[in-house]
Amino acid sequence: MKENIEPRKIVIAIDGYASCGKSTMAKELARNIGYIYIDSGAMYRAVTLYCLRHNLFEGERLLVDELQRRMDEIEVSFALNPATGRPETILNGENVEQDIRGMAVSQRVSIVAAIGFVRRKLVALQQALGREKGIVMDGRDIGTAVFPDAELKIFLTASPEVRARRRVDEMTAKGQDASYEEVLHNVKERDHIDETRAVDPLRRADDALLLDNSAMTIAEQNEWLMKQYRRVAGIRE
Ligand code: C5P
Repeated sequence: MKENIEPRKIVIAIDGYASCGKSTMAKELARNIGYIYIDSGAMYRAVTLYCLRHNLFEGERLLVDELQRRMDEIEVSFALNPATGRPETILNGENVEQDIRGMAVSQRVSIVAAIGFVRRKLVALQQALGREKGIVMDGRDIGTAVFPDAELKIFLTASPEVRARRRVDEMTAKGQDASYEEVLHNVKERDHIDETRAVDPLRRADDALLLDNSAMTIAEQNEWLMKQYRRVAGIRE
């Protein structure tokens, strides 16, 4: 009998702390294996941008009832950028890929992401995107709540100081203003809110592989991940 050489299509869930390189890793893997890449954090960021633009924050306080009334007006999707081949975030028809990455959104996104009705809407969207498999999704609850049956789950971590330094370098490279102290504070604060929220908190799924990449190069990390993918997808080296 002929051996089936088609690799099986799987779901890959990458979770972990803020700014530990999840998206760099997930994007590279998706590109290498021809999978769709979805940045679930971008979806929470887009809803947060909507709140900022519609004055739904009074300082740090979110007008939760007003947001709930407006939930049906908020549409988040992705469109492929033909130049980079990567999906970019669309909020109600507008490309907001740049606007969702600034500090104003970073400082408030964990507040928005802790709300049950926001999570229910975005988790349902994420699950619909993964129905056909062949997807790499990164976030905080992908292996626990979005795709608890994902064939490959990774939980990524690195020290807060390493993560803040990487984030500052990334922002500086893009010409954005970034102070190390401010970014470090933001990274720790988001982790705390994400880990202690009542709905789908950030935690490692029991069957997720743990990777601390504090002392790893991007190349080493990608190689490790490819190996895990080949193993699970049944591809011989
Ligand atoms: O991944 P990123 O840092 O862009 O995510 C922004 C924020 O969105 C996180 O700090 C977290 O509060 C929230 N998030 C979440 N669940 C996800 C992805 C992101 O709560 N699956």
